Amino acid sequence: MENWNASLQFHKDLQIVLFEGEVPLAEMHAALWSEGHDLLSGEPESVNFTGPEQLRTSLGSALCRIASGVFQSPAGMNIQLTITVEEYPRWPDAFILQWQVSNLGGEPVSFDRYSCPGLRLGSWITDDNRGERPWSLQGAAVHWGQDFAFPLPQPYERDNFLGHLQNAEGGGIPLVYFWNARQGVALAHVEPQPKNWYMPVKVNTQGISAALESRQRFSLMPGETLQGLRTLVSWHHGDFFAPLSLYSSILSAQGLHPAQPNAEDFEPAWCSWGYEFDVQPAEMTGVIPILEDLGIRWLTLDDRWFDGYGDWNPRTDTFPGGGRQMRQMVDKIHQAGAHTQIWWYPLAVEDGVGRWESHHYRMADILHLHPDWIILNADSSVARNNRGLAILDPALPEVQAYIADLTRRFVQEWDFDGHKLDNIYTVPACYNLAHHHQRPAESSEALAQVYKIIFETTRALKSYSVTQICPCGTPPTFSLLPYMDQAVTADPTSSAQIRQRIKFYKALLGPRAAVFADHVELSDGADDFASEIGAGGVPATKFVWPEDPLVGARLKEWWGLTPEAQVLWKRWMEVYRSHHLADGEYLNLYDLAYDKPETHVIRKEQKLYFAFYAEHHDQEYQGKVSLYGLEPTAYRLHDYVHDVWLGEVRGPQAVLEVRFQSSLLLEAIPTAK
Ligand SMILES: [Zn+2]
Repeated sequence: MENWNASLQFHKDLQIVLFEGEVPLAEMHAALWSEGHDLLSGEPESVNFTGPEQLRTSLGSALCRIASGVFQSPAGMNIQLTITVEEYPRWPDAFILQWQVSNLGGEPVSFDRYSCPGLRLGSWITDDNRGERPWSLQGAAVHWGQDFAFPLPQPYERDNFLGHLQNAEGGGIPLVYFWNARQGVALAHVEPQPKNWYMPVKVNTQGISAALESRQRFSLMPGETLQGLRTLVSWHHGDFFAPLSLYSSILSAQGLHPAQPNAEDFEPAWCSWGYEFDVQPAEMTGVIPILEDLGIRWLTLDDRWFDGYGDWNPRTDTFPGGGRQMRQMVDKIHQAGAHTQIWWYPLAVEDGVGRWESHHYRMADILHLHPDWIILNADSSVARNNRGLAILDPALPEVQAYIADLTRRFVQEWDFDGHKLDNIYTVPACYNLAHHHQRPAESSEALAQVYKIIFETTRALKSYSVTQICPCGTPPTFSLLPYMDQAVTADPTSSAQIRQRIKFYKALLGPRAAVFADHVELSDGADDFASEIGAGGVPATKFVWPEDPLVGARLKEWWGLTPEAQVLWKRWMEVYRSHHLADGEYLNLYDLAYDKPETHVIRKEQKLYFAFYAEHHDQEYQGKVSLYGLEPTAYRLHDYVHDVWLGEVRGPQAVLEVRFQSSLLLEAIPTAK
């Protein structure tokens, strides 16, 4: 069967090979592992192919084919494997596949691992790659600070669990992508609900393999059928942008549309995190004069303004006036013509345990009232998040109502204009008998419902509101994408991560999505606005002002704004406002891994904005750069950061000899109308 320029070929053993032209890109097969033995190895009987048949599936109109065969053993095992292959005209670079196994025998069949599929890449990925290592994007949220995409080491092995990790992160985007300088292959599941499956990746001397795998021990009863997940296999040229954008389009076809940003989502912001845990209202309002000078109109009240997780009342030491004082602080910000967001961590609740060093953990009042609202693990232990806190079960209608009440408290009663929802990964399956779940996965499936309530309640109260969801240091859980109007590069550890994550979100949420580039103090040199702005992000800062030795004495890090920095910050805010690239159209014309120097390009009306980055910050780049995406006409080139004119070029493709330190941001302006 053929789809555009690729084809799938079935082997007799029901292995599938994906070809592009003559090149075998990947082979795929299903495996049922029982104590290290694959029950689906060997030659199946009664192999049968049907189709093509034109069908309407939940994804639209498809050409559908089915292959099946029966695997038998002398011991009487009789398992039918069925593979459905769907082709959609709107996604010509993809196949949607689904494997299923049925027990046709008379005895239960037990297994501990179900791979459907296991995928092995052809040798093209390493051959013919100019001696460079292939790159990979792996969307599972496995640990804080991870590079979403990186050159693949060898040997390499990662489990990529897609569910919640006890006391840690979890969730993410269920997609892995492998590419070299010429092409790439992606594997993803496209189910509309999160699944507690694995996407293991392995690199060894045999090559590169990946899988979509269930690792739950299972007994398939006689007559019973087990469905695999709806699986995407696609092939592309270039970096992770195309497969993520394809994945996003398949989610949209199932109703999971990314939230639409409003104008305020693109506003630069100041955050109180420079004041760390003990920020006081006077410090929040104290920066207003300097923010007015810089032209920043959003302020975020960050972590630890509250007494305890779950109750979310103001701390008695820093906000002795309680909710009334909170409202006064917000009023003062509003009177200055600014807006403000509040930090919180929905679903986190204190039960006397916590491992984040911040305060004395106690039992939240809400848990005194409702001790059975929390998620329990299969062994009846309390499920814990990355901060070691208990987790309210989002599937409970009472919990959803409580979250709606909290949202109204913040946005209506205290009058905040939006949220910074932080440390948002996923939640585990729930085994709390008091909840009477039909399936333990109901809790992780309901996670999105809670964020829908927060987002929609807030938008209904304030159409200009900003709801930021921060999956600190990891990719976001896909089911939450419809409920955040502002993404965030989420604790980047370098400028390269900032730029990579901006591109990641532009692919996933749309080329005009609002991507908060996070505090510039986290970038290389702590002032790399060029990476935040040039790649299409919304700039942000967390400086402390004015300088105060008493404040300095209580802080672990000092991020004071010197008069020189103030001049620099102000200039970059003016650059941002004059060109406003963040809501321009991000164009995927350069490969982040292989095109040197690293280049990003954004279209705003007739102008194209190019951003070039040296491999390391403060490094000099001297040489040629290519300008793609131009119309066949003449353009004047302007370094809009330093206001230097660099002459004229003619499209559609131009090469320019340049020399710059760290970065070069250019606008290409057509000379004719
Ligand atoms: Zn539950």
